[in-house]
Amino acid sequence: MRNLLAAVAAVVSIAGLVVIGGTSTAGAAPVCAVDYKLNQWSTGFTANVTVTNQSAPVTSWTLTWTFAGNQSISSGWSADVRQSGAVVTASNMPWNGTLGTGASAQFGFQATYSGTNAVPTDFAFNGVSCSGDQTTTTTTTTTSTSTSTATTTTTSNEPTDCGTAALCDDFEQQTGSTPTGRWTVGAANCTGQGAVSIDNSVAHSGSKSVRVDGASGYCNHIFFGTPVDGSSAAVHGRFYVRHTTALPMAHVTFMAMKDAGDAGKDLRMGGQNAALQWNRESDDATLPEQSPAGVAQSKPLPTGQWNCVQFTVDPAGRISTSLNGSVVDGLVVDGVSTPDIDSQWLRKTGWRPAVTDLRLGWESYGDGANTLWYDDVAVGSSPIAC
Ligand code: CA
Repeated sequence: MRNLLAAVAAVVSIAGLVVIGGTSTAGAAPVCAVDYKLNQWSTGFTANVTVTNQSAPVTSWTLTWTFAGNQSISSGWSADVRQSGAVVTASNMPWNGTLGTGASAQFGFQATYSGTNAVPTDFAFNGVSCSGDQTTTTTTTTTSTSTSTATTTTTSNEPTDCGTAALCDDFEQQTGSTPTGRWTVGAANCTGQGAVSIDNSVAHSGSKSVRVDGASGYCNHIFFGTPVDGSSAAVHGRFYVRHTTALPMAHVTFMAMKDAGDAGKDLRMGGQNAALQWNRESDDATLPEQSPAGVAQSKPLPTGQWNCVQFTVDPAGRISTSLNGSVVDGLVVDGVSTPDIDSQWLRKTGWRPAVTDLRLGWESYGDGANTLWYDDVAVGSSPIAC
């Protein structure tokens, strides 16, 4: 555990905070203030942006800025974020366009970059510079860098128990029939009858969750996924899952993470012999071993209730897993071989996972159909409470 803690402590995300506007010495105040919070890694970042209208009320808005480097946006959420060259235009969604004086809207995006990821300095709100009237307003720009992880902005729609997790989604901001924004729906292979939708009536928090209709058979895989950064540090995840049909005897998967440390093969969480298990695609190792004594040290996934699943995967190849607040002994790899649990798993020496995404859904390899709901999904660099 000492080594694990040291590894976590070594994780440094840069939280950049820039505040533009705010100090007005006389005359017109700036028309807007922008908080631009970064969570970045070596090749990419997410930004959580809060724009505050400091002028007359508006019923729609755009926020524009120019990147100084080669930042390239791949997806956005809670705004229509478009990039043309270095210029970015974020436009309101139908539900966050109205901003009274002093009101704020929040949105975010994910992007790639190389070199320096400078914070933009030329924000404009509905075409007017956030620096305000240059003749009468003093603009202060402060940039701070800290070693804290993920200074997330909490909105009223987000659950309050994500801690500092970089990814924290309660799906309340989803307005369509399928997840959008940071989420991509699909599967690497045939998706057949599998379906993912936003459910407006079943939820762990708020009123929305993601529903997965998973059919049996190999060709009905379906997931909704988002990038995560497990390239150099432990990944701590937490999600709530509710499902309908008890885990079957056959092998199924409900969570998959692409493992760049294992030739891009998946690291999977699912079930077999009616109990939870991890499975490594590259060598089909299971955790626990699928002997009666091994399976007995796992647990079934209760149906008809919201279950809190917490997991940690670290670059040294250790795994821990909790279900509804209790560690599941059969789902732990601590580096010391334990009979019936991890001797098959440890047979692959030198496994150093580096997961690059998180996908939730349903993957059956034979038998096993299920209807599942997911909510309050969080991934961060430290453990996330239920
Ligand atoms: Ca929710």
